[in-house]
Amino acid sequence: MDLKVSDYSSDRSEITPRVEKVIILGAGPAGMSAALYAARAELSPLVITGLQIGGQAAITHTIENYPGFPSGVHGQELSELFQKQAENFGARFEFDSVTNVDFSSRPFKVVTYGGVLSSETIILSTGAAANKLKVPGERDLTGKGVSYCGTCDGWFFKDKQVVVVGGGDSALEEALFLTRYVKSVNIIHRRNELRAGVILENRAKSNPKISFTWDTVLTGIVGDKAVTSVMTKNIKTGTDAEIPTDGVFIFIGHTPNTDILNGQIVLDQKGYVKIDELMRTNIEGIYAAGEVADPHYRQVITSAGMGAAAAIQVTRFLEEQEN
Ligand code: NAP
Repeated sequence: MDLKVSDYSSDRSEITPRVEKVIILGAGPAGMSAALYAARAELSPLVITGLQIGGQAAITHTIENYPGFPSGVHGQELSELFQKQAENFGARFEFDSVTNVDFSSRPFKVVTYGGVLSSETIILSTGAAANKLKVPGERDLTGKGVSYCGTCDGWFFKDKQVVVVGGGDSALEEALFLTRYVKSVNIIHRRNELRAGVILENRAKSNPKISFTWDTVLTGIVGDKAVTSVMTKNIKTGTDAEIPTDGVFIFIGHTPNTDILNGQIVLDQKGYVKIDELMRTNIEGIYAAGEVADPHYRQVITSAGMGAAAAIQVTRFLEEQEN
């Protein structure tokens, strides 16, 4: 990769760019916790936040399973607390996105819209993005009734009828949240049993605004300026149907955000960054934490724990390099 001094923004215009001790890519619970631990180790970490400070946690209305908050905590509030705590110890946050990386030699290069950065170590914590159904109408009607975030968009569907697609914890949690605003939620699931945990299942099944359409997939989303209906197929009977609706909320899992790595980091078969028990990737000095590297748990607490572990490993690695 040809990274020239002319690529540098005005605030990074020095001829010999500063080499950071650690750059953290992503500011979800993993990145924030890594920043806290690295800052307390006096590494003055630089966090490149990406577009969503706080990651998926920040757009979750209430998080009920993060210890220390017996009444739950708003995702946005928890994210702000994470950031403030890390900043209190010297972490620096840049609201910028990474466009490319060069991990071929140390110090590693990270290209952002603002310029080119250089670092002795990297922690990858870029999280994961919502999967798409890939049915006709989905793309064109995104933002016109198709949404991947009930917490963000639910308010726009006051007293309307919506469908939720998926049968996991996210689908049920978001469906329950949507009942604050909407007239009704029809959860359309491709099987006849849920993947979600029993607490959410019981809550959803006892909510009078929520109904279920089982064994059914969406084959299309219909609408011109806004969503008006969804086309469905019952996969047991083969019956096609059209269900009128004002909104379609899709929660069918996530895909790790690894595009910027350009094949320089080894991924597992599902596309997650492959790490060992010490958060190490295939390149010495590069670690990963949180949903980008976690196909199993994907909780705020587990991501935060992985972030802390990655920062501890970075600290040890840098100490070893100095000795
Ligand atoms: P998930 O557990 O992977 O569930 C995805 C759901 O979407 C499944 O029901 C799946 O159906 C369905 N699905 C997948 N692809 C589909 C397709 N192409 N068409 C139709 N349906 C499709 O994802 P998630 O709900 O986002 O949860 C991710 C992780 O976060 C999980 O570990 C979950 O426990 C955790 N989480 C926890 C909480 C909480 O603790 N409060 C909240 C949110 C998420 P099948 O069931 O048939 O596979």
